[in-house]
Amino acid sequence: MEALFYHKIDNEKIKCVLCPHNCIINNGKSGICKVRVNTKGILISENYGVVSSIGFDPIEKKPLYHFYPGTEILSVGSLGCNLQCKFCQNWQISQTSVSEFGRESRFYKPDKIIDLALSRENNSGIAYTYNEPVVFFEFMIDIAKKAKEHNLKNVMVTNGFINKEPLNELNKYIDAYSVDLKAFNNDFFTKYTKSKLEPVKESLLNITKAGKHLEITTLVIPGLNDNPEEFEQMVK
Ligand code: SF4
Repeated sequence: MEALFYHKIDNEKIKCVLCPHNCIINNGKSGICKVRVNTKGILISENYGVVSSIGFDPIEKKPLYHFYPGTEILSVGSLGCNLQCKFCQNWQISQTSVSEFGRESRFYKPDKIIDLALSRENNSGIAYTYNEPVVFFEFMIDIAKKAKEHNLKNVMVTNGFINKEPLNELNKYIDAYSVDLKAFNNDFFTKYTKSKLEPVKESLLNITKAGKHLEITTLVIPGLNDNPEEFEQMVK
């Protein structure tokens, strides 16, 4: 599947502008996320339809505590991530390419996921989760559009490291965001996630201004991101 949000630099190189890494990718190579590949000048989303994990979870497990509490949500994950957190709990699916992960993943068309979501009575919708959904943008948005037609809610569990234009596109279909704010300290972001804090803050404002449901989660790592002053700044 051809990816969205990229442009050609010359015959060999292309620039992906889906997330703030804005990777410049040579022919035959992938971006930092490992799943978007320059194939002869066309950016291919290699993980389109590739599902590493799928199942019904309580919505509180996303975690979302104030959005359809007490319901379940069909949770879908693929492969790849645009961050490289040293403390990642899902590194087997996040820090891999489609070819490295190989046969353990399954292929799903969006319609099959919709059918599964509709098959359960107490299911409120579909959550894009487990690995970073930003890097399966095309697959997510194709499912989300169909989900909306069936009155299913769309939930994105994300690190928030995405450029403004694709986030604006997502805001048309995503009903609730659970954003994992890794810390409130740019040095932490650089050292432990290989990304930056500022774009995540911009995403949080963007989501809020779009009037979407937003809940923020922080994984506390003793000694690394548990400074009380930083928490105070974060909450403010
Ligand atoms: S989505 Fe992937 S390829 Fe695109 S800019 Fe981000 S890390 Fe790079």
